[in-house]
Amino acid sequence: MAISRRIVLHFPHRLVNQPIVSRLVKEFGLEFNILKAAVTPGEEGLLVMELTGNRRDYDRGVKYLTEAGVKIQSLSQDVVRNESRCTHCGACITMCPTGAFTLEQGTRKVIFNDNKCVVCELCIKACPPRAMELYF
Ligand code: SF4
Ligand code: SF4
Repeated sequence: MAISRRIVLHFPHRLVNQPIVSRLVKEFGLEFNILKAAVTPGEEGLLVMELTGNRRDYDRGVKYLTEAGVKIQSLSQDVVRNESRCTHCGACITMCPTGAFTLEQGTRKVIFNDNKCVVCELCIKACPPRAMELYF
């Protein structure tokens, strides 16, 4: 049975330039579609992708990634902003690896573009009033 999942891969710095993802195709016959890619300030690599294949190959591919040191997160997780808590302090703007926060000229409000978010969770820890939340 074929399955398709949207997942986030977190690559430690030592793996960022390794051909890990191409091995999913060559060795496990999986197909992937990269939706977003980014490098965090700590130089962790982030890839949001749709991974497709038959169940057995998918499980083997995920096991291979995990054993290689890649952390895998399901995109059923979502980062949202609690608007009533946000003070528009701007602390999240420079730290978000994908530029999901922008400062609106004129109002000086911080806009959250959730379609750019790759669920790295960096803003959750960094937001002073804890306005950024993880949902499952
Ligand atoms: S760090 Fe938190 S409070 Fe500050 S602008 Fe970002 S989301 Fe709002
Ligand atoms: S979790 Fe926060 S810091 Fe990470 S990509 Fe999403 S908005 Fe940016």
